[in-house]
Amino acid sequence: MNTQHIVVIGGGLIGLSAAHALLRDGHRVTIVDRGRLGGGAATGNAGELTPQQVAPLASANTARDIVRGVFTRNSYLSIAPLRMPLLAGFGIGFLRASLHSRAARGAAALAQFSDGILPALRRMGDDGIDISGGGEGYLMTCSDEPGLRAAHDAYRSRAARGWGEAPGPILRDDRLRDAEPALHPSVTGGFMLPGEFSLDPVTFVASLVESLAARGARFLEHHAAIRLGSGASVVCRDANGVEHLVRGDRLVVAAGAWTTPILRRSGVRSAAIVSGKGYSFTVPVDRMPAQLVHASDRHCVAIPMHGRLRIVGMMEFDGRPDRISTDRFEVLARAAAGLIGGADWGRRTDEWAGARPMTADGMPLLGGVAGRPELIVASGHNMHGLSLGPVTGEVVADLVAGRAPKSGGRELDLAPFAVRR
Ligand SMILES: Cc1cc2nc3c(=O)[nH]c(=O)nc-3n(C[C@H](O)[C@H](O)[C@H](O)COP(=O)(O)OP(=O)(O)OC[C@H]3O[C@@H](n4cnc5c(N)ncnc54)[C@H](O)[C@@H]3O)c2cc1C
Repeated sequence: MNTQHIVVIGGGLIGLSAAHALLRDGHRVTIVDRGRLGGGAATGNAGELTPQQVAPLASANTARDIVRGVFTRNSYLSIAPLRMPLLAGFGIGFLRASLHSRAARGAAALAQFSDGILPALRRMGDDGIDISGGGEGYLMTCSDEPGLRAAHDAYRSRAARGWGEAPGPILRDDRLRDAEPALHPSVTGGFMLPGEFSLDPVTFVASLVESLAARGARFLEHHAAIRLGSGASVVCRDANGVEHLVRGDRLVVAAGAWTTPILRRSGVRSAAIVSGKGYSFTVPVDRMPAQLVHASDRHCVAIPMHGRLRIVGMMEFDGRPDRISTDRFEVLARAAAGLIGGADWGRRTDEWAGARPMTADGMPLLGGVAGRPELIVASGHNMHGLSLGPVTGEVVADLVAGRAPKSGGRELDLAPFAVRR
């Protein structure tokens, strides 16, 4: 293999996973991050790896929620009306992607990764990366009967197409309480998703960073990439405002929700990535749930992680990835209060917000750029950057090596993920 020096812009889930796979191939890696590694959306998330759920957000249901989100702050999905001009292009693209035929095409494109998600994660585990904190399978709940049946049918039909494992039977009453005694009494239905996996992203990211350092990766923290230079170089500004040119043989742009300005300043036209902020906090409970519980009707997730209960949810579009809206924690706590019983919702700690890198059609930007052979973009993984991180890392390594990118042993069609589309 031809050993190269790869400069990775962004040390989040995608950049770190790419660096891991590139080092495995014997390359030299420098990671440039505007802050600390893992400082974006990498650590406060729900820790779910979901072969059965990697699908675009846009659907007929979410299109309705988008409209509601403009007019109320009480919903899981909120859109700041004053920022609408900024988000208008994204909104139009999102509504277009919600059309049944487009949403189905998007789901099929992302499902190419389904078989590769957990094997790629396990290869990281075999390399010594800490994938603990959760484990296999979790409970999906829904207390709205038609919603429960529709969700169950959707997972069954995905499994019938070979996109992940089939769900368990619908559970109600005693069987539901037996499966998860910590549920709030108002929760009336659910089913297990045995093929999903969860982990603690805090320990995962920490061990990934430690392993990269031990294998000789160079970290340039507090260096913000401003624009790409000529050839495989990037102009970065350090914490003192001093500009530096960082050079390699190839560049990988993996700056999550902050990717679009870097590409635009560099003359690279691309599908836009906007931030869809999510929120999480830790809450004390009388009884820890036995497993991760994902409430599809309440749009929130309760995750036992190494002895703490993390609550995760919300999708906020306001065009400001770095701004925390404290009212979102209240809305999230109200949603989760109907999911888990015996929690002290007033004693929240570890309040956190992270910017999901959202594209209107739900597809990441993954691949090369015409006329820029030194450049690879790996960004815009929406709500699935942990699920898709390990397999994306391997795809980036395939692209650098000139191999046909694969997932789950099958060659990938990267056309739906074209950087400019
Ligand atoms: C509340 C919440 C829950 C989630 N739950 C899940 C889940 O359960 N499963 C799942 O698969 N996904 C989940 N996600 C989504 C997942 O976290 C993201 O898809 C993922 O973090 C995207 O990875 P990334 O590397 O593209 O971006 P990030 O992880 O955000 O990393 C981007 C990095 O780029 C750096 N950067 C930004 N600008 C620059 C610059 N100019 N120069 C240099 N560096 C820069 C940032 O500092 C950051 O470190 C969740 C997200 C949120 C917010």
